[in-house]
Amino acid sequence: ILCVSQSFDFFYFVQQWPGSICDTKRSCCYPKAGKPAANFSIHGLWPNYNNRSWPSFCNRESLFDHSKLSDLSRMQTTWPSLICPSGNNSKFWKHEWDKHGTCSEFVLDQHQYFEETLNIKDRVDLLQILQNEGIQPDGRNYSIGSIEEALRRGIGFAPGIKCNKDASGNGQLHEIYLCVEKTGSKLIECPVLPRRNCAQHVEFPAF
Ligand code: 5GP
Ligand code: 5GP
Repeated sequence: ILCVSQSFDFFYFVQQWPGSICDTKRSCCYPKAGKPAANFSIHGLWPNYNNRSWPSFCNRESLFDHSKLSDLSRMQTTWPSLICPSGNNSKFWKHEWDKHGTCSEFVLDQHQYFEETLNIKDRVDLLQILQNEGIQPDGRNYSIGSIEEALRRGIGFAPGIKCNKDASGNGQLHEIYLCVEKTGSKLIECPVLPRRNCAQHVEFPAF
């Protein structure tokens, strides 16, 4: 009858490098609109606790409603789904809302949740920041320290970095985590960074 609205401490804003999804053993699928731009794209905005744990699937009754996003068509380009079988960005967004968005619903309703996420994305151009420091998606290896330092200088806050493996088992730059304060409106220094799983040098694959 009464739902206790869970609290949380901050958001992780997570972006993925499409090249590092598509060159894996399981490969990728493009959405109906075609190959996404060679740029970082949104994975999600995730409520989190300072002790590294996080709430998920907080309200099974808050159904994802695609029609509430009709004014946010730029999501198609900045938040594409690359995991097979694809063609359905909406399914990815529904998953993100159901698993994460429902846990911050007492601060941001569904429309606000997606809109704030897009707004944060517009404010930091990770690829540009890296390229300004000579770090390009050219399939070469870069030191993880130089990537972190470039991002920290360009953004003003230390990023979290996650790696995965390409089809031949080489470690590569996969996701970048930034932190956002609870109302979703501004970037903050991360209270806690995700555990890093990258080697000293990582590939930055082309896309
Ligand atoms: P992976 O293990 O692939 O990094 O994460 C799998 C899923 O678990 C993510 O898509 C996300 O939904 C969730 N997840 C992983 N790490 C975190 C985290 O640090 N915070 C939150 N809120 N969710 C996470
Ligand atoms: P999370 O890892 O956020 O819990 O879940 C991601 C879910 O969304 C997985 O079930 C994954 O198959 C699906 N998904 C669809 N498109 C994408 C994509 O482009 N990137 C990621 N990371 N997951 C996607």
